[in-house]
Amino acid sequence: MTLRRTCIASSLALFAAASLSACGDANDRDTSTDIEVTTDTDTSDSVPDAQPDTSTDIEEGSDTGDTALDAQPDTSTDIEEAADSADSADTSDTIPAPLAALPPWLAYCDGAACDAYDPVVLAVCPEVTPSCLPTGTATVLPSIDGHRITAIAFLAALPEGHTLRVVSGQASLGGPIVTAYAPRVEVRSDVAIQVTYYDLPLAAGDTLALDFQSTSQTSDVLDSVFYRHAAWDTGTAATELHTRGQATIRAERAATGITSEKVHAFFMPTELAAVQGEGNFSYGDGRITSNYGNPPYATALGGILPVAFPRFAHECAHELFDEVRASYPGNYSCLNEGVADALAFVVGSLPEVDFGPIGLRGDDFDDGCADLNEIHDVGNCPLWHAYRAGLLTEGFMRGVFQPGRVLDFDSCDLHSDRTGNTLFVLFAEAASDTPELAPIGPVLDAMGVPHAASYAAALAALGLSAR
Ligand SMILES: [Zn+2]
Repeated sequence: MTLRRTCIASSLALFAAASLSACGDANDRDTSTDIEVTTDTDTSDSVPDAQPDTSTDIEEGSDTGDTALDAQPDTSTDIEEAADSADSADTSDTIPAPLAALPPWLAYCDGAACDAYDPVVLAVCPEVTPSCLPTGTATVLPSIDGHRITAIAFLAALPEGHTLRVVSGQASLGGPIVTAYAPRVEVRSDVAIQVTYYDLPLAAGDTLALDFQSTSQTSDVLDSVFYRHAAWDTGTAATELHTRGQATIRAERAATGITSEKVHAFFMPTELAAVQGEGNFSYGDGRITSNYGNPPYATALGGILPVAFPRFAHECAHELFDEVRASYPGNYSCLNEGVADALAFVVGSLPEVDFGPIGLRGDDFDDGCADLNEIHDVGNCPLWHAYRAGLLTEGFMRGVFQPGRVLDFDSCDLHSDRTGNTLFVLFAEAASDTPELAPIGPVLDAMGVPHAASYAAALAALGLSAR
């Protein structure tokens, strides 16, 4: 794998109930961010930007694939609820439960391995003395199934008139959200606070084991791990995501005629997902991560499934596109985003409102595509017009995933004649066995994208021959 395309959903919207109004409109994807993960470069030291409303690329070295997934047995057949605690797993007369697989940005540590990390130290101070250093200390120790982990993001709710700052350690503050890249967070405070969306009290002298429980499930096409805090009753979400996830994977493969690696999906609440930006990624090697948010956000959007499942389906489509990207040696990034939503939509795993016509910046695709500038919008808009024209079928998607020729163009430059002519050829051939008869000109006109007068003329302009 050399290049993997990922896409992630709203960050702050998934963090804070206060931002729900910003994402509660007809299109709640309006703060999407993208991360590009590559294995063919050495620039592996960048960190994803958690800022919303910006597209961000990161690159990640190929040696970052050494996740706990590799150590996980594939032999279990049923839902595996992890042991309740490390202690129970350590009893000598039982076989310890395997550690739950972790998303790529988390690792387990214990004992001295945890202590090797510098703790994150925070201070809660009165706003009038924001540089204070209170004497009282509370400690937060994040863990999964009782096994400590190396990072966490959590909401910190302070009493009126107080402010939070990072004293030391690797951490960032995004509004009330603390993202701590350490297995130990010390909160210096002389007042009691609450942390997480579960309103856990934290006062000086406390040690809070901020633990999440995992549910691991396996199947022939999908292994999934669902994490939750005990205080959030997530009902049947883990099983539904696993069951419906398999159906989506199969449907997307059937529609495109493409298969890829077995999918390893990680479904996480904000506290685990937000450690890595917005938390929804495709790694191109079967690994998919999905941020299902927090109780107020999920409730506002109708539940965990409506938050997580369309993004999962989108990321699965990226996994398939990763298999065929050699057919698109130019800048395929916008095409990749567009087909990810389009395929998920065509197989019924993504609602129309997530596909179009209102884009992430509030633009109406029906007004044209050429002046859009958000990567998903630029990608979705041409396919939206294919949908409007009645062309967007599974057969059409198969044609896009298996173009049968190499199309070298910049899918993000919709002012380009080359892009318009390439879309003419691609759409005509995907739409019909007699592409010269496919009504693509009007589709491109509706997009506002320049193009040749006919399929034959588009081919000629590109120096291509009819198939
Ligand atoms: Zn994407």
